[in-house]
Amino acid sequence: MDVQKYLEENPVIKKIAAKEETAWINPYLLASDMTDAMCQLVVSDADIEDAGERLKRFASFIRTAFPETEETGGLIESPLAEIPAMQKKLEETYGCRIPGRLLLKMDSHLAIAGSIKARGGIYEVLKHAEDLALAAGKLHVEDDYTKLAEPDMRAFFAQYTVQVGSTGNLGLSIGIMSAALGFKVKVHMSADARQWKKDLLRSKGVEVIEYEDDYSKAVAEGRKNSDLDPMSYFVDDEKSVNLFLGYAVAAKRLKKQLDEMQITVDENHPLIVYIPAGVGGAPGGVAYGLKRIFKDHVHCFFTEPVMCPSVLLGVATQRFEEANVHDFGISGMTEADGLACASPSGFVTRIMTNQLSGEFTVADAKLYDYLRLLNDTEQIRIEPSSCAAFAGPCGLLHYEDSLGYCESHGLTEETLGQSVQIAWATGGRLVPEEIWDDYLEKHL
Ligand SMILES: *Cc1c(COP(=O)(O)O)cnc(C)c1O
Repeated sequence: MDVQKYLEENPVIKKIAAKEETAWINPYLLASDMTDAMCQLVVSDADIEDAGERLKRFASFIRTAFPETEETGGLIESPLAEIPAMQKKLEETYGCRIPGRLLLKMDSHLAIAGSIKARGGIYEVLKHAEDLALAAGKLHVEDDYTKLAEPDMRAFFAQYTVQVGSTGNLGLSIGIMSAALGFKVKVHMSADARQWKKDLLRSKGVEVIEYEDDYSKAVAEGRKNSDLDPMSYFVDDEKSVNLFLGYAVAAKRLKKQLDEMQITVDENHPLIVYIPAGVGGAPGGVAYGLKRIFKDHVHCFFTEPVMCPSVLLGVATQRFEEANVHDFGISGMTEADGLACASPSGFVTRIMTNQLSGEFTVADAKLYDYLRLLNDTEQIRIEPSSCAAFAGPCGLLHYEDSLGYCESHGLTEETLGQSVQIAWATGGRLVPEEIWDDYLEKHL
């Protein structure tokens, strides 16, 4: 890759390579009527609908296997919370202006996996289990899926292995759900993965294989290992459409929550969403789903650490999965362990090229500051990776480029005043108590 060329031609990429916090506005964004037809060909509304239906079929099983989901009837869904005290505190602390209402989508608190991976990761395992059981004639879509918890079904799944490469949270979601169904599970963990995540998985009977290298290596090894075994299935975070679909289901459910809060989204009431990105799958799937529903009235921004802005580079250079932060002199080592993916998903960077509004990058030290501010103002705890989301609302009216975006996309003083901004919290619930003590005291 001719890195020098990108550095010379694109001042934002120059800033990115200098590891400066910045806003990047996506020049490839198109109006939704330009992308609609293409979307229907690649990941259609019907595909997302089908994924939502599948999750409903599994609700009875999930409710049985995970009593914590009793309240939501076996659906894994998170609250959408107002955080006015945090909004005010961010404005005071950083001298930024955050118009409209700031909400927190608390995927940090999703049942079972405690992160946004409870959407895509769990969905893909369920889809695989259903495919196997249907093909073997052991299940029919009209059945009550609680039968999946019975011993003979567990014995059936025990013949098969599920494998995944992960920085931590994807491994948790795949590992916990696969183990609950009876699958053998191997999780290939990158060096960035936190110890407590490995410990938790091992306690569930999951085989954890550790690598000295980064995430891409863990994925490559996992894929290789799985390909050698015909009874093994590999959840491929860099390519999987099923993961993407699981994430995309979030959009319709969010729409319902907004409706219940009597929040309208239209030309005069824009929705602005900020989601932390690692390899891009989770934020990509969620954002894609939101664009399908709200079209041009939703503005989707990703946030990434200055130490690992791989999705940004993948889209900005249009080199997709070939982009690698190391080529730009960036280490990829970040406190945001869930976002430490040196190369992005080729599938997601392509499909989001015309839908992503832009990105905000954030320095590692800020992640802990945001973590403390949210804890102090709202008594909500989310993990460092998750905290990257706040770079969005703080950055929107701060950078020249994002101000320019507002100007050219009808985000005026008036419409912004009526807007809803959502910081998408992506993980936190499973963090052990003693680790919170560390996080809350950590200053970089
Ligand atoms: C995985 C993860 C993300 C980003 O998801 P990708 O699919 O890797 O882009 C964000 N935050 C947390 C806490 C995560 O675990």
